[in-house]
Amino acid sequence: RSVVVVLGTRPELVKLAELIRVLGPAARVVHTGQHYDEELSGGFLAELGLPEPAYLTGVGGQPRAVQIAAALQGLDALFAAEPPLAVVVQGDTNAALAGALAANARDLPLVHVEAGLRSHDRAMPEEHNRVLIDRLADVLCAATPDNRELLLAEGVPDERIAVTGNPVVEAVRDHLPAAAERARLLAAHGLDADRYVLATVHRPENTDDELALTAVLHELAGLARELPVVLPLHPRTRARIEAAGLLPLLDGVTVLPPAGYGTFLALARHAALIVSDSGGVQEETTVLGRPLVVVRNSTERPESLADFAELVDPGPQIGTAARRRLSEGAPGLHRLANLPSPYGDGTASRRIAGLIAELAEERTAHRSP
Ligand code: UDP
Repeated sequence: RSVVVVLGTRPELVKLAELIRVLGPAARVVHTGQHYDEELSGGFLAELGLPEPAYLTGVGGQPRAVQIAAALQGLDALFAAEPPLAVVVQGDTNAALAGALAANARDLPLVHVEAGLRSHDRAMPEEHNRVLIDRLADVLCAATPDNRELLLAEGVPDERIAVTGNPVVEAVRDHLPAAAERARLLAAHGLDADRYVLATVHRPENTDDELALTAVLHELAGLARELPVVLPLHPRTRARIEAAGLLPLLDGVTVLPPAGYGTFLALARHAALIVSDSGGVQEETTVLGRPLVVVRNSTERPESLADFAELVDPGPQIGTAARRRLSEGAPGLHRLANLPSPYGDGTASRRIAGLIAELAEERTAHRSP
């Protein structure tokens, strides 16, 4: 019997790739199609060495409730036809919640990778997804000891929780191009190491509120008058910028299509500073040793804030925080390069595969006469 891995967005592909590789032929990957887009997921599958997944239909581009309902229905049909040994989900997406509900409905053991993250921000749909998935999960893979403490405080029994680290650490190590290739990539983009800013913007709180979007773009444009600013643009953000007529604001900014994972890591590795609202990037900077300004009202990753990152609302604070970090120069970069990542040592995927093997053994022993 197989282990079904349910995913639906770019960060899930990144963080589950190594686990899927370790599980080998036992893994059956189901892509709900939540963010299926050639530029986001399509090229990513090949780059991450992932097998072609089974795709569900009717999910992408729908309102949240319809996404969850459609994915739940599609998964239930798959689970009824061929019940897996276990179901694995990662993070806080609608795909992950649908996977958790589908596992629960068929009484299948559920493994949650990246359990115990909390922003305590009830305005974030992801916060509700996280809490619900953690309630349903049988094996909760906490990335950090603090994530475990949060789960214990919510009453999750200790024996369900394992501190595994976050698989993003091995994802970065596996996919960061070698130094010569990084130098070639930087040269191709006309960039000098440690002398540019890398930015990403895609969260609805920054893209769907025109005031916030204008403020973020205005701050990036201001920085671009001082040093190159590179912005691989998420298709949804691009659509919002065009609809609001804000494209001229980006005149001095180097706008790129969404970057492949290796290219993105190479750009991040040598940036003097990263400005981003991404969840995954908050973790990746701690492995790459680069400073980050997080443009969000709240974060579920406070571990990043200790040394690597700073949280700011969309507004002039972005430029202020960015200039403060940039003024730390080479000594600032050197300090971060020597700090360990709070997200583990790059063995999370293997540990999680071990937990899944134990779970499978228990179930087999339990069911055999
Ligand atoms: N990423 C990428 N190319 C880009 C922008 C981001 O490969 O142009 C990667 C990034 O390194 C991280 C993941 O995509 O691993 C994060 O995805 P996203 O920001 O869409 O989602 P979040 O992490 O906020 O859920």
